[in-house]
Amino acid sequence: MPLIVNLQHLVQHGISLKGKLPVEELDLHLNDEMIQANSPLEYSLQIEKLEDSLLVQGRLTIKLDCQCVKCLEPCPYLVALDPWACHLPLSGEDAVSVNNDCVDLTPYIREDTLLEFPQHPVCKSGCDGLKLGRSTSKTNPVPPQSHGESALTWSELDKLKLK
Ligand SMILES: [Zn+2]
Repeated sequence: MPLIVNLQHLVQHGISLKGKLPVEELDLHLNDEMIQANSPLEYSLQIEKLEDSLLVQGRLTIKLDCQCVKCLEPCPYLVALDPWACHLPLSGEDAVSVNNDCVDLTPYIREDTLLEFPQHPVCKSGCDGLKLGRSTSKTNPVPPQSHGESALTWSELDKLKLK
């Protein structure tokens, strides 16, 4: 179910809506493989009918499954629009479309939520990127090079001792 408000329910007083919007319904069209949305968007909204418009206020959150652009590790990312507010005119050029007294809030939620998505998700600020040692040992084992270095160090130490 998309998130639909029936204007008839708003005639006397405002309503509050709370629930989850399935990610399929939100239809985010994510083309970024670094960002996946697999959990529903959670909303908690107060909706009031003003003279000639709807005022929607509340909170939107959606958990994303991202991949850190630096180290490529999975990193969860919580998008939270809190507070979120949306003013929807019911008449005029920018009027929202009303079908059988119902207004679909989904497109406005989609639009504003997408704006808050991370451009370049990182697992933590100052992530130092790919752990080269670990990732090369997985695919392409290289002989440890520390022997040569430590041998050099020992011979240098010996020289120092001799002096
Ligand atoms: Zn990272």
